[in-house]
Amino acid sequence: MRQRRPSRAIVLDRDGTLMHNCHYCRDPEQVQLLPGVSAALGWLSGAGYRLVVVTNQSGVARGHVSERQLARVHERLRRILVAEGIPLEAIYYCPHHPEGSRSGYAEHCLCRKPEPGLLLRAAFECGFALAASWFVGDILADVEAGNRAGCRTVLLDLGTEPRPETALQTPAYVARNLPHAARLILAADGRSRRKVEPLPLAALDRPCLTQGVLRPGDPSPIPTAQWVTQAALEGAQ
Ligand SMILES: [Mg+2]
Ligand SMILES: [Zn+2]
Repeated sequence: MRQRRPSRAIVLDRDGTLMHNCHYCRDPEQVQLLPGVSAALGWLSGAGYRLVVVTNQSGVARGHVSERQLARVHERLRRILVAEGIPLEAIYYCPHHPEGSRSGYAEHCLCRKPEPGLLLRAAFECGFALAASWFVGDILADVEAGNRAGCRTVLLDLGTEPRPETALQTPAYVARNLPHAARLILAADGRSRRKVEPLPLAALDRPCLTQGVLRPGDPSPIPTAQWVTQAALEGAQ
């Protein structure tokens, strides 16, 4: 008899959630996991959650990244994680943008977050239950996509997002980083008895950081700086 796979998944945004934000990353050498990511994914995978990535890559529509380059970037991400013993089941991306310059990609689509299309497709193709799953991302569009798809959601606070004004944009939890999010998820689903507190929504009531003007390929200054501080905090607990 074929073994049934668990129906729960952690769906993850890519940039600013798993890897350092890089403006339209097209070089596999620029793939760099954020601190604590492999540990957090290891806990989640060990608790029986399948791991899937859902990411907006409008750089394709804008002509900054080819799908071939994107495939190499994703292969590198997958290999880095496999080397850490973490199986990534699938990576889904939206290559579209209504203001794109490449024909065939410059369109309004149903897969660019905050639309839930990619999540729905991932759940259908991989065969996991959205209601038993979580979506983790670093911007409110991630939260909205996850909520619209019927997942529970966690917002990683990189300092860039305001407090949400609608229920659709409101996450179940705000977390400092992925290890913090993983602990919140494991506790909420009764898979860990370790006590863990989310950040309050009020933590988002402060001036939002912006990354300024970047060229394609530039690393984003914000999450890097934030995460160094957050990783230090995480380690100090
Ligand atoms: Mg992101
Ligand atoms: Zn799309």
